[in-house]
Amino acid sequence: MTTCDEDDTPPGTQWDANNYSCAYDALFTILFNIWSANPRKWKKIFQESNQYLSTLHDGFQHYLKGVNTLEATRDSVRTLLYENDPVLFPSGHTGCSVSALTTQMFYPIYKVPQLHLQCSHCNNTIMINSNRIGRLMHVAHNATGTISQILDNHLHHQSQHVCDNCNAPLHTTIRFSETHKIYAVDVTDRDVTLSETIKIHGPAHTTILHLKGPVYHGGYHFTCRIIDNSSNIWFHDGISTGRTSIKEGKFGTVSQPNLKMCRNKQLCLVIYGHKS
Ligand SMILES: [Zn+2]
Repeated sequence: MTTCDEDDTPPGTQWDANNYSCAYDALFTILFNIWSANPRKWKKIFQESNQYLSTLHDGFQHYLKGVNTLEATRDSVRTLLYENDPVLFPSGHTGCSVSALTTQMFYPIYKVPQLHLQCSHCNNTIMINSNRIGRLMHVAHNATGTISQILDNHLHHQSQHVCDNCNAPLHTTIRFSETHKIYAVDVTDRDVTLSETIKIHGPAHTTILHLKGPVYHGGYHFTCRIIDNSSNIWFHDGISTGRTSIKEGKFGTVSQPNLKMCRNKQLCLVIYGHKS
């Protein structure tokens, strides 16, 4: 077999003009590219997350076997989301927010993260299991700098609590019971610098996640870019590129302003993933 560029072109989903699907098209196209690099590895991660990622995994597998389309996969997850919340995930000519969609898709149901509150003075530690810490961070209004720095600050910050042992302020450290392999950052209307990698802290070690897909918004429509394992950048738009994507160069050769804008749409969400 010969390998040519055409074979490596990441597929995407075609936009549904009857049931506006651009948020799903953008997120699921990025997730397919992450998943397809190593389906066996991602199977476990998707299945251990929640019913949505688990259903997405099943659909991706059917697509690889040629028994289903990516659109049918998208719609099966969409039906579940609609059944659970028809207001956030409507059908017809009303779109959904990609941030709401990602929050729901990445919500850790089966593996609950732990919040560590650690005293800076006597090392007294309180641990809280919290489902409220999802795998999506909203960047604060006044935050500046790189996404990596902002995430670090989010994962370690001084809490309102004081130590019941010595009254010193407690530092909050968010540690995940199992290190996340995917993470999303909502940067809608934020002026931040895109980081190529971010660090996620687990119980034993720190995991590096790589930029996999920026999502763009403008004119009531979402599009995305895919960054593959060879650092190629691809553009996907369910309307204009449909089931395929267009190569746009290599990551590292595209400037920050050009990463934050994409064909008149603005960066709104970033997906990071573990290298497969
Ligand atoms: Zn203390």
